[in-house]
Amino acid sequence: MASIFTKIIQGEIPCEKIIETDSEIAFLDIMPCAEGHTLVIPKLEVKRLEDLPESEALSLMRTMQHVAKAVSAAFDGIDYNLILNNGANAGQEVEHVHFHVLPRPQGSSRPFHQRAKYAEGEMQEVGAKIRNCL
Ligand code: 5GP
Repeated sequence: MASIFTKIIQGEIPCEKIIETDSEIAFLDIMPCAEGHTLVIPKLEVKRLEDLPESEALSLMRTMQHVAKAVSAAFDGIDYNLILNNGANAGQEVEHVHFHVLPRPQGSSRPFHQRAKYAEGEMQEVGAKIRNCL
């Protein structure tokens, strides 16, 4: 089902893109719960993880590992959370499967639902910082 993420994939809505492959795109979350909070999504329009064909799920995992390494490296930590809200009861708001990558440098423990917008120009700086670590 088409969602706001379809528009991002198609370039109709701008995003701070970290990486794009044939099958996935990763970009900064617009309402981050940590600086560098990144979403990794398949281009295939499916709602839930189990709706992805196995080959697409494996490809998503490969890209996620690549992105997660860069996200944590950019925030001089080795720790991060990978979060999947799979279905409405699990907190999924956008009906297009996506993983959240949350860098967790020492002392950062903001809960998932505690969000703060980036200041003007900050999102672009954070995106560049992560891309430099790819
Ligand atoms: P969910 O609750 O479905 O797991 O997470 C959806 C995420 O998508 C939220 O963290 C939300 O901030 C993010 N999001 C929603 N709309 C947009 C958008 O237009 N651009 C970006 N970059 N992120 C979005």
